[in-house]
Amino acid sequence: MGKINTVLGPIPTEELGITAMHEHIGFGLPGCDLDTQWWKKPEEAFEVTLQKLRRFREHGGKTFVDCTGIGNGRDVEYFQVLSRRTGVHIVAVTGFVAADSALPYFRNKSIDYLTDLFVHEITVGIDGTDAKAGAIKVGVSRGGKLNELDKKIYRAAARASLKTGAPIITHLCVDADTAIDIFNEEGLPLNRILFGHADDGSYLDEARDSKIAQLGGWVGFDTIGYDSEVEGAPYWSRPRQDRVEHFLRFLEKGFLDRAVISADANCCALGWPGLKGHSVNYLFEEFIPDLRKAGVGEEVFEQLLIHTPAKILTMQEPRPIREAVTAR
Ligand SMILES: [Zn+2]
Repeated sequence: MGKINTVLGPIPTEELGITAMHEHIGFGLPGCDLDTQWWKKPEEAFEVTLQKLRRFREHGGKTFVDCTGIGNGRDVEYFQVLSRRTGVHIVAVTGFVAADSALPYFRNKSIDYLTDLFVHEITVGIDGTDAKAGAIKVGVSRGGKLNELDKKIYRAAARASLKTGAPIITHLCVDADTAIDIFNEEGLPLNRILFGHADDGSYLDEARDSKIAQLGGWVGFDTIGYDSEVEGAPYWSRPRQDRVEHFLRFLEKGFLDRAVISADANCCALGWPGLKGHSVNYLFEEFIPDLRKAGVGEEVFEQLLIHTPAKILTMQEPRPIREAVTAR
């Protein structure tokens, strides 16, 4: 049947199990590893990360999708060690979190160049290893509008998705209409795109979420745990109960099979403190209990954490890319 790329090789879709669709082993801006203020000894970072992944495993978690793009702390050899040590499948991504966090080196590259780069990481491997990316990351730069480089990256991602069958995961779904236009122009069906961070407190738009779902896209409630009640919470946080209610409204509209949940947490943040106490395990320890209290049944969690991630992550048959668009 289908297969999914993990850092230790492809696995059959049935192997995926409970999946956190948008997480980070450690995310930081390019250069973060040089910041003495937040620098941690490698063995300390390793220890904290192991603990969080092991707890994830104890909660029944089987697959961890690391959405850290190129140059943002993604380290596939490290991911391979972590996966071997914990038994958690780790899916790495190619692509960029957003143009404004991409390495300057890549900023002037063409759409064709970026397409080839993403295709290489999906079909050959990342950083000279044979660890293949299982998804393509794209995103919206700060300011709430796709900038010119964001658009180039979206277009390259669409072409790489058509060529390889890998899905796309977005950082933010603000300016979704522009993104949808690009995907339509490129001929990529929206069921290959997870529009992430619909629950981000700074860019809420429920009409947009419904539109994406109606058009067949996937909607990520995947900044779960960035609660404004937590001391030092970043600007995209929001009150815990608001997020729960937002999510319940989405389910009540009949969109259960268009949604995924994740925490966008760092096992060990790079070059910034991360949110204190936050980890992927917030899903099992806080969010799911909140939903249970609201009367949500177990079959819903199975859909959110197993069946939908399997549909998104399973590699599709390659499709031809559109000549007319390519010619630009
Ligand atoms: Zn993220």
